[in-house]
Amino acid sequence: MKKHNYSAGPCILPQEVFEKSAAAILDFNHSGLSILEISHRSKDFIAVMDEARALALDLLGLTGKGYQALFLSSGASLEFLMVPYNLMKVDGKAAYLDTGTWANNAITEAKAFGETVIVASSKNDNYTHIPKDYVIPTDADYFHCTSNNTIFGTQMKSFPKTDIPLVCDMSSDIFSRVIDFTQFDLIYAGAQKNMGPAGTTLVVVKESILGKTGRSLPSILDYQKHIKAESMYNTPPVFPIYVSLLTMQWLKEKGGVAAIEIENNAKAALLYTEIDRNPYFIGTVNQEDRSNMNATFLLEDEAHTPVFDALWKEAGISGITGHRSVGGYRASMYNALPIESVQVLVDVMQDFEKKVSGTKF
Ligand SMILES: *Cc1c(COP(=O)(O)O)cnc(C)c1O
Repeated sequence: MKKHNYSAGPCILPQEVFEKSAAAILDFNHSGLSILEISHRSKDFIAVMDEARALALDLLGLTGKGYQALFLSSGASLEFLMVPYNLMKVDGKAAYLDTGTWANNAITEAKAFGETVIVASSKNDNYTHIPKDYVIPTDADYFHCTSNNTIFGTQMKSFPKTDIPLVCDMSSDIFSRVIDFTQFDLIYAGAQKNMGPAGTTLVVVKESILGKTGRSLPSILDYQKHIKAESMYNTPPVFPIYVSLLTMQWLKEKGGVAAIEIENNAKAALLYTEIDRNPYFIGTVNQEDRSNMNATFLLEDEAHTPVFDALWKEAGISGITGHRSVGGYRASMYNALPIESVQVLVDVMQDFEKKVSGTKF
């Protein structure tokens, strides 16, 4: 039986994407060849890459606005390094917002390059909110933020206005909500949270911000080299890119980011309403900063853990155990998770309430 998959990443993808991917492994485009055995320079794969790059820009509303989309090897963690390599000037400095583990990892890499200013941090509150009042130094080479904090379950609902390049790690909420993406100069997202399987990272960059550091870059880390090579500087991760393309096509057919945002809002409202209503659960983060992608919550009484765990497992739910730094539970509701799965979880929470309250009296 197909599970209700709440995994934080790698995560659920649309069922039709799994089916088309499986078919392409056996016979890609009726070529008599598997997608796994063709050259990345073949006509068929170049078409995949071109369409994937164009569709990523299209879904973000960035077509024809000076941006390039790249599908690079490796994960978002490599971008923690590539961003300072490509944007931080020699003797320059960068500004970062610290909203969680991933933001922190990005800061660690930037520090290896030069002066790195942390404009604000919610670390002392175990990242249960997004810092709001901070000043971005106007002489920094760029400002880096994380739109959705996968581990802690917070999400930036607005972004600061700044004249310096705005860089955003959107790994866990890319293509999930409508934002004016033109406010960003560089967006990156590891595929495995909302777009495809692990192995590729989408980078969307405004070309005009590149090539200004005075630094010599290793070729493989140079965005300009990747752009020039049309995202084929070296052998790209062919299959993760193909699966990402299928997911983007699925999204486009559904009506794009605006259409999925409506579904994502409905899913999040359904679950958070129950977390707030049900006296046996406690949300872990400030309400105004709650993520629509990753909902984190605790049991009011940890002693009831075995009861709750048995109920959700029995209901066919998978992957809701919280990250070790938060504990409790994390329900990741990425684009492909149907609202029916959220209803199953809400029903389980209500069954749990009945069971536990029954034992109390
Ligand atoms: C998962 C995640 C990362 C790290 O991604 P990798 O592909 O494993 O390197 C970075 N940032 C955010 C926000 C994430 O959720």
